[in-house]
Parts: sequence; structure tokens; C-alpha cells
Amino acid sequence: MSLIVMKFGGSSVGTPERMQRVAKRIVDSQLAGNRVIVVVSAMGDTTDDLIDQSKLLNPNPPAREMDMLLTTGEQISVALLSMTIHQLGHQAVSLTGWQAGIRTEAVHSKAKITDIRPDRLFKELDAGNVVIVAGFQGMTEDGDITTLGRGGSDTTAVALAAAVKADVCEIYTDVDGVYSTDPRVVKVARKLNEISYDEMLELAHLGAAVLHPRAVEYAKHNNVKLVVRSSFTQNEGTSVKEEAVMEQGVVVRGIAFDKNVARISILGVEDEPGVLANVFGSLANSGIDVDVIVQSGVKSGKADFSFTVSGDDEARAVDVINGIRAEVPFSEVTSEAGLVKVSIVGAGMVSNPGVAATMFKAISSLGVSIKMVSTSEIKVSCIIAAEPLQEVVRSLHTAYGLDTAEQVFVGGPQDRR
Ligand code: ADP
Ligand code: ASP
Ligand code: MG
Repeated sequence: MSLIVMKFGGSSVGTPERMQRVAKRIVDSQLAGNRVIVVVSAMGDTTDDLIDQSKLLNPNPPAREMDMLLTTGEQISVALLSMTIHQLGHQAVSLTGWQAGIRTEAVHSKAKITDIRPDRLFKELDAGNVVIVAGFQGMTEDGDITTLGRGGSDTTAVALAAAVKADVCEIYTDVDGVYSTDPRVVKVARKLNEISYDEMLELAHLGAAVLHPRAVEYAKHNNVKLVVRSSFTQNEGTSVKEEAVMEQGVVVRGIAFDKNVARISILGVEDEPGVLANVFGSLANSGIDVDVIVQSGVKSGKADFSFTVSGDDEARAVDVINGIRAEVPFSEVTSEAGLVKVSIVGAGMVSNPGVAATMFKAISSLGVSIKMVSTSEIKVSCIIAAEPLQEVVRSLHTAYGLDTAEQVFVGGPQDRR
């Protein structure tokens, strides 16, 4: 008898018919002899709708109240799913995140899980129940409700799987698995049979919504067997594991993109020690995550530098920079929103020259200019204008031999990153 965690995303339970299909799938798994813990997200667009609703009353709601509001979405799903399973003649019990023993740090809107006490889960399993836990939520030591960040139900599922030492954590979603890029953007995207934790972590951080980055981190650190598959078909999904087999000669596993990037530039900054620490320290203190940073050459003791932030943080970042003008003199701060970060990811690229050059060539041959670049051992990211993103991704997909399994990428000799 296996102990398994099955997680169903919002689109998988978006309508009564889909809820029934999911309930049937869960019951089938239990009838096949498994002990089953289920994690569900809010139905369809519920979370977005709740955010829109709050904005009508307060454009800047307190984070604590926002968490209180958003966690209701998952509570609706767990109750309805449990009722649906009862209607099929089987036993199920729905639990909130805190009833399932999920403790988090005292941070609203993107809390990290600090501890899971799974006693209640085991008690309910022992009583013969399918245990249905609300994703995306937890509670602080002081008894306040928190959420784990958008897409955080994946993290609930993997964290529970680690806590109960489940045999497998299955993430059911609206696509067949992890693809070489978002299959909704590039039709020739290919499903990957397997991908390493490290590559998946990069893709998730770089914008591939199919898995929440923290879920992948959790899976890697706790060695959770993770499978991503469709809730609509029986097709085999993608296995996320420590080491994944690469097709021969293919160095790029996947392409991800983030469509919500803003670039902030600070011009004419005094080139003195401590300036960068002051700028980025102030941004960090305001809770603004900075991504790519580029400093251009120093002229007459003055430097220009640019960095990217999430488009949501653009205005606040500019305010923070203007706020430190007295300590860090500069001549101008400018910002540009609506940019995209497109990234290629693959564990094999570190030992293959020409990978970055191929990317730059594919992008520039479309007449698109590259505004910023950042690299690590397993990824290259370029900041570009929002259009024509689809063409850029499609062209990269072809350039790296991802359109067909047979094609292989051959790196040029010029680039030895
Ligand atoms: P869920 O509601 O099940 O959590 P999400 O919308 O969060 O579903 O994630 C699934 C979506 O992720 C897919 O519909 C797809 O558009 C998107 N996606 C982005 N990149 C990828 C990728 N590389 N592979 C598969 N899906 C991806
Ligand atoms: N319902 C939450 C969201 O929309 C959590 C999730 O779906 O994983 O972000
Ligand atoms: Mg998701």
C-alpha cells in the first residue's frame, strides 16, 4: 500500500463537472490500494476574482486582511471536493492548512513553511478517509493566517509529501507535464519525460508557472518523488528528479519567460565605495527583489547602472531611489516597464561553447535588441521588449533543436561561457 499526495490546480477543479472528474480519480486511486492525501487550489479564477474585489474597496489592503480573504478560495474547494467524494459513496475529510498542521513564518502574502505536524493527517488516514487539505495556506505561531505566494498550493503538496514521507507527490494540472517551453505559447513545445530538480528550479524561477519554485526546492531538499501530469488525461507525465537523462547532443532543456519585468536605470552616480550597498540595501529593506544588475563604465568619476524588478514594484523602486538621493547623489533615475525576460535552461550548457552566442543570434536575427543579459552555469537570460515574444521563443526553440527529438544542437566555437 502506497501513501501518495495528489495535488489539483485551480483549472482542474474549476467547474462542477471537473470537480466530479477529480473526485472519481481520487477514489480510483484509493480503490487501487493507496492511502491518499489531496491538496487543492481555489477553483478557476477565484483568487484573481477575490483580489479584484478587494481592490474595489481598498487599492492597498493590509497584507494580513488580504491573506484572510484569499485563503477562503481554497476552503471552498476542499469542502466541495470532500462533499463530491461523499456523494460517490466514499469517506473524505477536508482540512484547512492549519488543521493539517502547517506552520509558517509570520510573513503575509509569501510566507515560508517552518514546520508541519502531521498527526491529524495520519489520524484521518487511519480512519479510512481521503484527506483533503487546502493549498497555499498556513498559520503563524501566533495564530494568524498566512499564504505561501501565488501558485503556492504546489508547495503545500510537496511539503506535506515530505512531512508524511509519501511515496510520490503527483501534481495534476491542465497540461500533460513539463514541456520544453509553455505549450500555450509555442505549439511545437515538447513534453519532457524527465527533468532534474536543478533545471526545473531554474525554469520555475524564470517564469514557468507549471510548478511553484519553492515546491521544487522542497522536493530537491527532501528528495520527494515528484510527477507532473494532466488531470484530464491518463497520459504519463514528467518526472522531476535528481538526475535526468538528456537526449544526445541537446544542451538546452527548456525555455522560460517572465512577462512582468521593469528596468530601472540610475544615471550619473558618484563612483564611491558603498554606493551599490546603499542602493540595493534600501531596496531590500523595502522588500523589493532585484534581479539582473548591470553597471556600465565609469566616466569622470560617475557611473550609470541599471537593474530589473518585477513590474509590480516599478513605482516603489523609483520612490526608494529618489528617497536616498541625499546619501547617494545621482543625476537621473528612469524606468521602463513592460519588458520580458526570456531564458534558456539546461544542465549541459556549462560544458558546451556557443550556447549563449546561439541565443543572441536567434534573438537579433528577428530585429530584437537585447537590453540586458545575465548568466549562471545552467541558464542564460536576456531582457528584451515585450514584442514579438512568441517569435523569439519559437526561434530559440528551433535554434536549440527542441522542435523535434531528432534535431541536435551544435554549438559554435566562439562563445566559452
Ligand atoms: P494549476 O492551476 O494546475 O496550478 P498553472 O496555471 O499554475 O496550473 O500551471 C500550468 C500552466 O503552466 C500551463 O497551463 C502552462 O500554460 C504553463 N506553463 C508555463 N511553462 C510551462 C512549461 N514549461 N511546461 C508546462 N506548462 C507550462
Ligand atoms: N489559489 C492560489 C493562486 O491562485 C494558489 C495556487 O493556485 O496554487 O495563486
Ligand atoms: Mg499552479
